[in-house]
Amino acid sequence: MASRANQHVLLGSALLCAAAILCALPLSADAAEGPAPVPAVVSNFPVASDARLAGDPSQTRFVLDLDKPIQHRAFVLADPYRVVVDIPQVSFRLPAGVGTAGRGLVKAFRYGLVMPGGSRIVLDLTGPAKVATSYVLEAANGQPARLVLELVEVDRTTLLKSLTPEPLPELRPAVVDANAAVAPAVPAKPAGPPDNRPVIVIDPGHGGPDNGTQAGGSEFMEKNLVLTFGLALRDRIEKSGKYRVVMTRSDDTFIPLDERVRIARNESAALLVSIHADALPRGEGDARGATIYTLSEKASDVEAERLAEAENRSDAIAGVTMSEEPVVADILIDLTQRETRTFSNRFARVLMHEMKTAARMHKHPLKSAGFRVLKAPDVPSVLVELGYVSNKGDREHLVSESWRNRTVSSMSRAIDAFLAKRLVSAGSK
Ligand code: ZN
Repeated sequence: MASRANQHVLLGSALLCAAAILCALPLSADAAEGPAPVPAVVSNFPVASDARLAGDPSQTRFVLDLDKPIQHRAFVLADPYRVVVDIPQVSFRLPAGVGTAGRGLVKAFRYGLVMPGGSRIVLDLTGPAKVATSYVLEAANGQPARLVLELVEVDRTTLLKSLTPEPLPELRPAVVDANAAVAPAVPAKPAGPPDNRPVIVIDPGHGGPDNGTQAGGSEFMEKNLVLTFGLALRDRIEKSGKYRVVMTRSDDTFIPLDERVRIARNESAALLVSIHADALPRGEGDARGATIYTLSEKASDVEAERLAEAENRSDAIAGVTMSEEPVVADILIDLTQRETRTFSNRFARVLMHEMKTAARMHKHPLKSAGFRVLKAPDVPSVLVELGYVSNKGDREHLVSESWRNRTVSSMSRAIDAFLAKRLVSAGSK
C-alpha cells in the first residue's frame, strides 16, 4: 500500500540505520514522571528487551523478549490489515531500528504507551492474516520470558468474517497486570477559588505507537519533536499567568483524535493549537517552512488534502477503529461552527504574522483541509506544521533550542493578541 505513512516509514528506515530509536526515548512513560517524587514501584514495569520476526509470507512469528511473563490480548483489524497486541504498561528497551524492517506477513511494527498502565504493539501486515495462536513463555533454558504470536495468511473473506462485528471499545486497560505498578493518577486540582482564566489547549500530535513522520533518528521523530515544542509553548504561555494551559498529552502516550477534540470541548477552551511536523516522501520535492492549517470541507490544495488524510490516519496507526460519524453531527450547531471557523481563520492570520518574524514559513503558509482534530464546533482550532523533517534546514531548526524559543515566543504573542481582542469583544456583548 503506497500510503503516505508507509512512505514515511520507508523514508525513515532508509535513513535510520545507526540511529537510536524508541528504546532511547527520553520520553518513555516511566521516565516522564518528571522530577516530582514518585513511589519507587512506578519503574517496576516489565521490560521488553528485544523483538524479532521469523518465517515467510504464509506463516510469520513475532517474538518479544521480556524480563517476566505478562498478560496480553491480540486481535486483527482490516483496512489496513493490522494486528494489535494490548499488554500491560511495559518499558520498551528494544534495539535501535527494531520494527522498521518487516518479514513475511509483517511489513513493520510499532509500539508504545496508549494509556497509563497499558502499552500496545501494532504490526502492519502485508495482507490479510489471522493470529493462529499467541502465548507467553516463562524464562527457561537460558531464554528470557517471551510473548509469541503466530500469524497465518488467510483470504480476505475469512478475515472479515472473523472480525468482531461491533467496533472495538475505546482505549481502556484491556489487560491489567496486577504485578505492574500503574502510574499514579493525575493529582486532584487543589481546592480554592475557581480558575476562570481562558483555557488554551495545546495538542502535540501522535504519541505512543503512532510515531508520526520521521527522517533520521528518534530525535527527528515527529511525536518527540512536537511534544518538546508543545511543552515549551505551554511553559511560555503559562508565564504570563493570564491563561490556563491544558495539554492533550504531556508524555509519550497515544491519544485518539476524537479524544483530543473532547478535551478541548470539555474545557470550553478558548483555543486549540495542534502541533505537528510534516515530511515529504522521497522524490516528491523539498518543501520547507511552517504552515498553519484550519478546517475546511474542501482542501485548499492537493498537498493539504493529502496531509489531512495522513494526519487523520493517526487512530488507524495506533490500532483504534475510527467511527464513521463526524465528531458532532447536530445541524443546530452549524451557526456556532461558522463563527468558530471565522475565529479560527482570524487566529491563523494573526499567528502567521507573528510566526514569520521568528520562523521560516512555507511559501503558502495558510491552508485548510478536513483535519479531524480541528472539528470541535465551538473551539477555534488551528494545526501548525512546524516544518518538514524531510528538509535538512528545517530539521536543524526543529531540534534547535534557540529556534524553538523564538518560535514559541512568537506563537505566545499571537495567542495573546488574538485572545485579548476576542475577550474584550466577548465582554462587551
Ligand atoms: Zn502529524
